[in-house]
Amino acid sequence: ARAAALAEATGPGATRDGHPVPLLANIGGPSDVAAALEAGAEGVGLYRTEFLFLDRSHPPSDAEQESAYRAVLEAFPRGKVVVRVLDAGADKPLAFLPPSAEEPNPALGERGLRMLRRHPGVLNAQLRALARAAAGLTTRLEVMAPMVTDVAEARAFAAACAEAGIDHPGIMIEVPAAALRAGDLAREVEFFSVGTNDLTQYACAADRQVGALSHLQDPWQPAVLDLVALAAEAAADTERGCGVCGEAAADPVLACVLVGLGATSLSMSAPSLPLVRAALARHTLAECRRAAVAARSAPTPAEARTAARAELPALA
Ligand code: PEP
Ligand code: MG
Repeated sequence: ARAAALAEATGPGATRDGHPVPLLANIGGPSDVAAALEAGAEGVGLYRTEFLFLDRSHPPSDAEQESAYRAVLEAFPRGKVVVRVLDAGADKPLAFLPPSAEEPNPALGERGLRMLRRHPGVLNAQLRALARAAAGLTTRLEVMAPMVTDVAEARAFAAACAEAGIDHPGIMIEVPAAALRAGDLAREVEFFSVGTNDLTQYACAADRQVGALSHLQDPWQPAVLDLVALAAEAAADTERGCGVCGEAAADPVLACVLVGLGATSLSMSAPSLPLVRAALARHTLAECRRAAVAARSAPTPAEARTAARAELPALA
């Protein structure tokens, strides 16, 4: 019992019946690594690189980028680090990358990969710095693009990665169009990572910065669960990984549901890791799947949560 309690507190993520679910950390830079390691993160599932670029008038130098990436990669020699290329625009405007025109709806504007495709020099410099940072290390480096909508974008990103020497390209699934056509996208890249924050914002047409709409900015919305399921099913059909790195993964009940929907890893801010690890360790994969079916059968977010909980008896 003591060994089980210890594994529940710090061991690798797994369901009670031993189905592995790697538990990874969301970080903003090298200064978040210590907390991730302390919480038992098996790697990094979302390295938000925009923090390196914010509040400055020029992009960071190649050397500065390389050292910020290497510091994180070196900390997980037996794990993986999923780096997201610059996600600028919308809520994260950059002085040196202004939108090409006035944007009345910045969340629907030139952000993420859309912005990088207009500034290929910025993307290519970042990819090359990442490839140099990973050279000679045992850490598995995966690199993903934010705000991907269609096959042309995924294909262009995979090509840019190949050109820069990045072996494992992936995309975030955070636009409903991408979830709906995940089967096509899976053929272009190696993995998916579902960003439930933006996927919820776009599925429910509810700006994530508008507090009055928080009832719609809820990943328990059955429509959001359906979109996650579509992405996870397409990933499974093509033997791709499908992680979840939005805030939804940090809710222990929803984490079990996401695993039941087919998520293959979960990434969250470090303080949430222990509770999610414990919730998974107390339930079988079959229970998680039943919770997922129950949640998707419910017509409202509140009923989805109640229905899922009823299938997860060991939740604290
Ligand atoms: C998301 O959209 O769910 C996500 C993880 O990315 P960010 O919150 O940085 O937009
Ligand atoms: Mg996002």
